[in-house]
Amino acid sequence: MQVEQLSNEQLIKAAEKFGTPLYVYHAEKIADQYNKLKQAFSKSNVTFFYACKALTNINILKYIKSIGCNVDCSSINEAKLALHAGFNPNCILYTSNGIAFNEIEEAKNLGIHINIDSLSNLEKFGQKYKHTYPIGIRLRPNIMAGGNLKISTGHDKSKFGIPINQIEDILQIINKYNLHIKNLHIHTGSEIKDVDVFVKGIEVLFEIMPKFKELESIDLGGGFKVPYKNGDTETDINLLAEKVKEAFDNHPYNKPLQVWFEPGKFMVSECGYLITQVNVLKESNTTIFAGINSGFNHLIRPMFYDAYHKIKNISNPTGAIKHYTITGNICETDTFAWDRKINEIREEDYLVFYNAGAYGFEMSSNFNSRYKPAEVLFINNEFHLIRDKDTFEDLLKNQKTLSFL
Ligand SMILES: *Cc1c(COP(=O)(O)O)cnc(C)c1O
Repeated sequence: MQVEQLSNEQLIKAAEKFGTPLYVYHAEKIADQYNKLKQAFSKSNVTFFYACKALTNINILKYIKSIGCNVDCSSINEAKLALHAGFNPNCILYTSNGIAFNEIEEAKNLGIHINIDSLSNLEKFGQKYKHTYPIGIRLRPNIMAGGNLKISTGHDKSKFGIPINQIEDILQIINKYNLHIKNLHIHTGSEIKDVDVFVKGIEVLFEIMPKFKELESIDLGGGFKVPYKNGDTETDINLLAEKVKEAFDNHPYNKPLQVWFEPGKFMVSECGYLITQVNVLKESNTTIFAGINSGFNHLIRPMFYDAYHKIKNISNPTGAIKHYTITGNICETDTFAWDRKINEIREEDYLVFYNAGAYGFEMSSNFNSRYKPAEVLFINNEFHLIRDKDTFEDLLKNQKTLSFL
């Protein structure tokens, strides 16, 4: 079953009910994406951990849990949110990078899966826990992949994971403390179109796998690409599933192995919409600026990654096509789209950004002392508010007023 996008009418209804700017998430679309993965990989022993840094609203986490998906965390607080959402510790994975050892201790005490990403923390873990607590190791496979350098994590200049060429140092620590290594992890980046990147990763891991005696799983990370614009390619998950099955049907290990994936963007990108409204139109010599009531403080991907987000004028969907530059209200260059063809825009029209579920609200801030927007979940044919927009008190929260000023 293919879940349709929310219609212009539905989005306008949400905007009128809750105001703008507004993040809207369509729950069934998340389930749809998860089912696509489950179906594609149904012939292999695969478990999915939703990389929740893409979107951590507690209701999203609960929904993810309700559809039977596990969760991958990139901080101890995300792990605590996942517990708060009701996940069993056994369904929570903490893939760390560059963290203090006390967070790893905390994760261990929570009873969740841990992938350790430095020799130093591996050593500390060994000293303290020896063989008592099975862990995973995050490796850097030295593979270049991903949409752009900022979202590439597996190449030989990346900070992520223990460089694979340090395998002897890893093994030395494991032997010294008799560490129980149950999982090997790689995550090469985001927006990986090319299925062969995963295959290369598998080859790298297969080569070193026999050196580990107690493996139960191989964790291939996330990074599945979704389409952002018409005609965009996405990761061919059916082809990927075929290749994974092919590889793992003949793996060189002497025990059955589970395959783990950590999809973030794939799960929640397309479920999300950012609805904004046009404040001002400004004619310029080469373009018309449409200044909206949002900015990169709400959706940073265009400015941060040069990411393309489809934008539609849902208030005038049959208006004449014109060229617009869509800008935010932040006092910095704040451009969502240069010279984009959009149906004629009038002040107060609703402009919608698509693919706003992943790394949208989650990367928002209060820059310019502006409020973060509200979030709404569309589920069972109804809109539910799942986060209030900020209030003035939120801007002052945690600030101390010095009495002598
Ligand atoms: C961010 C991240 C993911 C998810 O990446 P997507 O591109 O959103 O699928 C998976 N695993 C780890 C370790 C990550 O840091």
